[in-house]
Amino acid sequence: MKALASEPAIGVIGGSGLYELEGLTDVKWQKVQTPFGAPSDAYCVGRFAGRRVIFLPRHGRGHRVTPSELNFRANIWGFRFLGAQWVISISAVGSMKEAIRPLDLVIPDQFFDTTRRRVSSFFGDGIVAHVGMAEPVCADLAAALATAAQETSATVHRGGTYICIEGPQFSTRAESRVYRSWGVDVIGMTNMPEAKLAREAELCYATLALATDYDVWHETHEAVSVEAVVQSLLKNVATAKDVLRRVIPAIAPARKCECPSLLKNAVITNPAAFPPKTRKKLALLLDNYFPRGRKSLSRGRHHLPRERSRRAPAAGHPRSKPASRSPLQ
Ligand SMILES: [Zn+2]
Repeated sequence: MKALASEPAIGVIGGSGLYELEGLTDVKWQKVQTPFGAPSDAYCVGRFAGRRVIFLPRHGRGHRVTPSELNFRANIWGFRFLGAQWVISISAVGSMKEAIRPLDLVIPDQFFDTTRRRVSSFFGDGIVAHVGMAEPVCADLAAALATAAQETSATVHRGGTYICIEGPQFSTRAESRVYRSWGVDVIGMTNMPEAKLAREAELCYATLALATDYDVWHETHEAVSVEAVVQSLLKNVATAKDVLRRVIPAIAPARKCECPSLLKNAVITNPAAFPPKTRKKLALLLDNYFPRGRKSLSRGRHHLPRERSRRAPAAGHPRSKPASRSPLQ
């Protein structure tokens, strides 16, 4: 299975509050089936400022999917399949530091994963890969996001650690205090394993985190509630759209970061031992590094002369066949 479009696209994952992206032209909602099941929703494919943009509402339109229920693999796979090279993750977060106030923007450069029941790799079933996660965010994409964010009226914090919890409940006070003692900056429920899978799919991934509240640790602010989050979300969504309008035209191919070749030395399994079924399932990720075996090539070679010999020998050109016989139709 190859990527559908040759023009590199910018992917956007809309978090809580951001379910549609206005201003796109030539819009088409495109359903994608992946080897890992169905993504959260159809992808909204369109154009903005001369760029191809692919938008996915992370929780589906209407916000129907909990963080634990999200099919992260299908969501990321779909972006890669549709030709995305960058994925901007828009995420509502709680602030874990006094200095990060509600409505502030954070561009995290690290993640801490405390999730417990999520499948976090495309690999397995006979093919093992270990992708580096020391720098989980694409520095180039994060820099572009930060520049765009700083052009808005919001306060922007560059860098920081996003701790990802399982949810869907918010933290207990004890948990929140422990996380704070670890030095994290913001807390959310969705960026892991999203970031891990984006790395495996060789996509540039960066998060625009929008603070909605002070979680439950703050002594003078009320503990987080859906009501408080929604209040902030409405304002944050307008800011997120403002940042997207600025960052999309600024992202330029070709990518100079290391993201496009993250899998190059990550697969540890001997290719001779690849189970054919798994190899086929992961073709979208593996074809660049492990060209398909000679078997299919030799089958093709045998096929062609036989076809020709049945028709005019030697002179037979596939194009000369009647159109109705074309195997492609
Ligand atoms: Zn990158």
